[in-house]
Order: sequence, then structure tokens, then C-alpha cells
Amino acid sequence: MKCPFCRKAELKVTDSREAPEMNAIRRRRECQSCHQRFTTFETFDLTIQVLKRDGSFEDFQKQKLISGLDSACRHTTVSREQVIQVAEKITMQLMEKQVREVSAREIGQMAMDLLQGMDSIAYIRFACVYRRFTDISELMEALKAVDRDKK
Ligand SMILES: [Zn+2]
Repeated sequence: MKCPFCRKAELKVTDSREAPEMNAIRRRRECQSCHQRFTTFETFDLTIQVLKRDGSFEDFQKQKLISGLDSACRHTTVSREQVIQVAEKITMQLMEKQVREVSAREIGQMAMDLLQGMDSIAYIRFACVYRRFTDISELMEALKAVDRDKK
């Protein structure tokens, strides 16, 4: 951390106390260089980073997952409530595993596992988007998986 006034990094913590209303720790800091005082807040970082296909990361957003599921489940037997339930289940699973990083592919797979037993069309549509089938044989494999599931 650098002093916001002089940009030097020699800081001393003069006081630390809880800020329960923000679920944070409040620290008074004093710059050893220019002697300016300021307050910092330390909070928990609970964001999960999603590794995207292009190699970049973004914060996991349940809302984004919901919209992805929504478009796959439109005009199927999967209701809006079920879509939200699936997204919540995935969010809970990620939090329980205490992962800090997950790939978009893994999230897609989790969603597919949940959709598979619910609605074949929603499953296939979602699979098309998430797996980005590059040829028809991959799509056929996914269709076979649905078929196997039914038996
Ligand atoms: Zn300073």
C-alpha cells in the first residue's frame, strides 16, 4: 500500500478496530514520510474468479449464469424458478468447495449436470453454447448422453 498523499510506501498502523457494520477492520495509518493520517478498511474478498476461454479472468456473477441458463431454458419445461435454483446450487457448490478460481468450462459442466435430468432440450441448448461444439460428432455425443440418461 502507498500513501495517498505522497505515494511513498512507509506506512505505520496506529490503530485497528472492528467496523462490524461493514464487516470490516478499520485501520488508522500514518505515513512515515509525510505524516499524513488516513483510514483504510479491510474486508473479506469472497469473489470467485472465473477463467474464461480466452485466458482472462472475471468475477463470478450469479446473474450472468442466470441469463445464460435463461436463454437455454426458454420455451422448455424448465421454469424461471428452476433456473434460479440451478444458479444458486452452483453458487453454493463453489462456495462450499471454497474455490477461488474456477474455469467457465467447469461452471458450464456443473450446469449441464443439473440440466441433464431436467429437460433434454435445455441441456442440449446449453451444451451448444458452453461446449461450443466444433463438429457434429461432438453434438451427437452429447445427444447420446441425454439418451443414455433416459434409459
Ligand atoms: Zn505520505
